[in-house]
Amino acid sequence: MRFDVLIIGGGLAGLSLAVALRSARLSVALVENRPPRRPEGWDARVYAVSPACANFLSEIGIWDRLDGSRIEPVQTMAVRGDAGGQLNFSAYDSGVSELAWILEGSLMQTELWETATRQANLTLFCPARPQRLDLGQEAAVLDLEDGRRIEAALVVGADGADSWVRNAAGIDVNFKHYGQMGVVANFACARPHRGTAFQWFREDGILAWLPLPGNRMSMVWSTPDEHARELLGLSAEALCQRVAAAGGEALGELSLLTPAAGFPLRLMRAPHSAAHRLALIGDAAHAIHPLSGHGINLGFLDARALAELLAGKPNFVDAGDLALLRRYQRARREEVVALQTVTDGLQRLFAPTHPLLAAVRNAGMNLTGRLPILRDALVRYALG
Ligand SMILES: Cc1cc2nc3c(=O)[nH]c(=O)nc-3n(C[C@H](O)[C@H](O)[C@H](O)COP(=O)(O)OP(=O)(O)OC[C@H]3O[C@@H](n4cnc5c(N)ncnc54)[C@H](O)[C@@H]3O)c2cc1C
Repeated sequence: MRFDVLIIGGGLAGLSLAVALRSARLSVALVENRPPRRPEGWDARVYAVSPACANFLSEIGIWDRLDGSRIEPVQTMAVRGDAGGQLNFSAYDSGVSELAWILEGSLMQTELWETATRQANLTLFCPARPQRLDLGQEAAVLDLEDGRRIEAALVVGADGADSWVRNAAGIDVNFKHYGQMGVVANFACARPHRGTAFQWFREDGILAWLPLPGNRMSMVWSTPDEHARELLGLSAEALCQRVAAAGGEALGELSLLTPAAGFPLRLMRAPHSAAHRLALIGDAAHAIHPLSGHGINLGFLDARALAELLAGKPNFVDAGDLALLRRYQRARREEVVALQTVTDGLQRLFAPTHPLLAAVRNAGMNLTGRLPILRDALVRYALG
């Protein structure tokens, strides 16, 4: 079987690329281990989707099909330092209708999956696992564990931070472990959040509360491993009390909707995201600290950039052509490097407990809040 584009990994990045290619004159294959599933109740994996990415999902016909009752627009962001620093952004002051949208990962993934399964130019290999990859001169050849062989002009690695494809292609990456975990859980709250996303830069990490529809919120607490393990070991009641107190009871009493889960936080830089017959997108190409809330936004924008290049290329240009793929790499590099540098720097600025640094970072926050030009630049950055 031979295709123009073979995507390995059907997470949000891989699926959005597949769907974005649905009207391109290209045959597409997608290899995925397991189909996505929608958990009971609320999914603990919740994303802040920037308006630019919501537009992308809208352009590819996904956004309007999502259940609107499960999506919350962010109207205000309230950022607090650990020594009186404050920074507030509002959609109203910034002249936009919302700063971001908060929704569950599985809501987007199942809709993308269902759309992909109906796509005329797409062949799905699922469940399937790759075994051997050869990025040859004439074609890339992938052998699956079940013995099937797939040939393609281009292989796209969309198989997450521990990418099999990236390893098989011999691309060595640099992982920096933060020694922290992102502890995530959803809560019902006694007080309305009014579309506010809260973020506290605390001595024990960065605590974020993202508003969910109704009186609910999703927490991401990026915190040192030991503290994360302690949080994960608490009873539901004790966790609610700990989280409510850490957020200054801003939303009153909390009750747990989904059990807490933790994921390790790492910065991952790949030396390149394009090679002969190969492109990397999403977490396979980069991983960042979640404090900026941009992880999946980078993945969606990778998918959009690559889909635009592939759909717009002349017929005589091979989809695996290195010059074409380098254009993808160049288009994405600046934003990815900038965001990695900013989030890594902020993480370091807020990590130590040195009193002088605490004063500087909190003063910086207050100053940024008082300088509309700087504040608006940050908002524009957040909007993607
Ligand atoms: C446990 C956990 C919780 C997280 N929670 C949050 C959160 O609450 N908020 C947030 O913003 N970010 C969170 N993140 C980060 C976020 O999930 C990622 O940034 C995002 O999912 C990246 O999307 P992706 O499509 O690039 O990769 P992934 O979501 O990792 O998707 C990769 C896909 O490839 C498939 N795959 C992997 N290997 C193979 C293979 N060899 N063959 C075939 N298929 C393969 C996988 O099954 C998967 O479907 C979390 C990450 C983890 C690990």
